[in-house]
Amino acid sequence: MEAILKGLNAAQRAAVTTQASVLQCLAPPGSGKTKTLTSRVAYLVSNGFQPQNIICCTFTIKASREMRERLRGLVGNDLEKRLILGTFHSICRRYLVTYGHLIGIPKNFGIADSNDSLGILKALQKKIRFGMDPKVARNKISHRKAKGERIEDILKTSKKSTEAQEFVTIFQEYETALAISNLLDYDDLLLRCVELLQKHPECVSNIEALLIDEFQDTNNVQYELMKLLASAKRRITIVGDPDQSIYGFRSAEVENLKRMKDYYPETVVINLEENYRSSSAILSLAQNVIEQDNERPAKKLKSTHCYGTPPVLRYLTNPHEQAAWIVSEIKRMTRMTVGLLQYTDIAILLRSTFLSLLIEKALGNAGIPYRMVGGKRFFDRAEVRLLLDYLRTINHPDNNAALLSIINTPARKVGVNTVAELTRAAENAKLSLWTLLQRVLRGEHTLDKRLSKPAEQGLNELITLIRRGQEKLQKFEPVQAPGQLIEFVASELGLRDYLKSQYREDWEERWENVKELSAQAKDVTLESLTAEDQLPEVDGVKQAQAQGAQEVLTRFLANVALSTEVESDENEVKSRVTISTIHSAKGLEWPVVFVPGVYEGSIPHSRAEDINEERRLLYVAMTRAKALLYMTFPVNQSRDAESILTQFLSYEITRSLDKVGPQFSDQVIQDIATVLGRRAPSQEALAKAVTSLQDHESQYDDIWSEDGSRKVIFHTGGNGLSSLYSQHGQTFAEAMRS
Ligand code: ATP
Ligand code: MG
Repeated sequence: MEAILKGLNAAQRAAVTTQASVLQCLAPPGSGKTKTLTSRVAYLVSNGFQPQNIICCTFTIKASREMRERLRGLVGNDLEKRLILGTFHSICRRYLVTYGHLIGIPKNFGIADSNDSLGILKALQKKIRFGMDPKVARNKISHRKAKGERIEDILKTSKKSTEAQEFVTIFQEYETALAISNLLDYDDLLLRCVELLQKHPECVSNIEALLIDEFQDTNNVQYELMKLLASAKRRITIVGDPDQSIYGFRSAEVENLKRMKDYYPETVVINLEENYRSSSAILSLAQNVIEQDNERPAKKLKSTHCYGTPPVLRYLTNPHEQAAWIVSEIKRMTRMTVGLLQYTDIAILLRSTFLSLLIEKALGNAGIPYRMVGGKRFFDRAEVRLLLDYLRTINHPDNNAALLSIINTPARKVGVNTVAELTRAAENAKLSLWTLLQRVLRGEHTLDKRLSKPAEQGLNELITLIRRGQEKLQKFEPVQAPGQLIEFVASELGLRDYLKSQYREDWEERWENVKELSAQAKDVTLESLTAEDQLPEVDGVKQAQAQGAQEVLTRFLANVALSTEVESDENEVKSRVTISTIHSAKGLEWPVVFVPGVYEGSIPHSRAEDINEERRLLYVAMTRAKALLYMTFPVNQSRDAESILTQFLSYEITRSLDKVGPQFSDQVIQDIATVLGRRAPSQEALAKAVTSLQDHESQYDDIWSEDGSRKVIFHTGGNGLSSLYSQHGQTFAEAMRS
């Protein structure tokens, strides 16, 4: 118990130990909400709650992993494993796998990720020729589902206009396509779980406590889920921060906080007011940004750290300069601080991913390793996706989406027209493509247009391969099934040679990805076999039975579908700069944060509907930083360079910003070390670093001067702009005008 409460402040302790059954812990960034939530789980467990009766929802898979790790330390391995801990989606999947049969969901349902959904809609567009962009259609459908609407509701409520009717048709056809393929999309996982728990509340009769992180970003369906999951005991803890609500575009409803209080009049609210993450300079700048929102209630927030280094607002001539400057700054800081700051400590947070191209290039040229978060997922790379689609087909051949993507890859003479003909026939006969295909090849179904001999042969080969895969699967040791199946398919396809012939330039890298997938399959399998994935037995409710190798394969594929990670955690290069979207950086923290592209059109985004949400985004980005915060923007990208300031920053505070970059003097380095709770490097090491930089980096156009005992660098950037801003006494606005 002592270990759990140690290091918490009074308000955090109160939240962790409260006897109140419904608790809202509302607090600003870095105030320890996630830490408090984790401690509360541990507290409940150490007070006799059985971990398998506790559900804890995190916002991302990464967050749930981190929480699991912290809990392992607090309550021990065995207990931690039994907790029902994950994202809303993964928890719902678990319930549907175990109890979905009660509402008629076949046990081996597949998960349609957003790529599959898009693929289905693109195919539909060919079939029923609608005008709407498939991507827009996908978002619209998802939006309606996130509100809790299902096709029945849409049919009832939609208007009579042609446009509205077109959408109804698309929605309907999309749902049918999912059903034929036995797929649930991301929204279905939540919606169907709501349905399950409404009809069979006994599935969660064991649940004694429900805890939810980042509650401000829950949507309607997730709100319903909260009520249902906690229906047995009405014991709920949620933590959140309305100022960090950034998923409005995905139908998140901040209103849920208030609705919750109305629904549970017994709700107790505890506020946390101390920030443990950021230096006070960073915190007050961020505060200043969020306070521009007039409708927001005033809040208290104290920093627990020293003032630290002033945040940097830096203007560069163009996006290339911006990328180059960020890279040179990263190099300079890692060298000047001699090991105090390393690549892993640094994050570059972007409003939109298109900004990352130049920055990635610049980092690459400088030989600085980086990893992308929230970019293209590892599992979405063409060669990886291909293999996975073979696995998905073997596991569950009625999945049209998967079968279509492998039907002629590698090429087996099944042309576009043939595929179209087969799809049409399958739809008319209300069969899955797989079933139709077999009937056609057995001569039980005649097509309008007969198959050509080569196409017939190609399709026969494919079917044989899938069947052999299925036979193999039955024989594999369950734990090894996904890994062995990947090896089987890769070798049957001659995948290595195929990649070599298709991608002359980078086939080796692609082959590495295939090997990586196979390696991951071996790891993930063992992990997913653990109790982590199982739900406890509940009296009087029948659980679906596990089915050995196929069960393991299904779980592996579900993990893949729900994964947001770009690559595996274990990576050869340990120390890497992180590039992430601001959205995916939620809840995380880094010693150093760069926010490039802080200009009108980027943030606030040109297509943004809600300026307040854009401001909250910037606020989230800024509050990820512990010790150093950089914001940059290319001047020529900003039609009105001052607008960012008028919209987001008060005039006075922009004057206090550093327009050049920190000098990494002894004091600055000491401050960074203090904020991070690390040891500053020794004087000798620092002196040596300065000398070596002086020797090797003369091309950097730096001015050297004396500061006490050692020399420091001033950055000028090389375009003369910075000297403008560093002129003494000149404000930003004046500088921009001159
Ligand atoms: P966000 O809103 O960004 O998700 P949060 O409120 O969840 O932030 P945490 O991530 O839990 O904040 O905590 C921020 C940092 O402060 C973490 O590094 C955490 O370990 C540290 N921290 C929290 N509470 C304390 C405390 N009482 N003493 C020392 N450090 C603390
Ligand atoms: Mg948090």
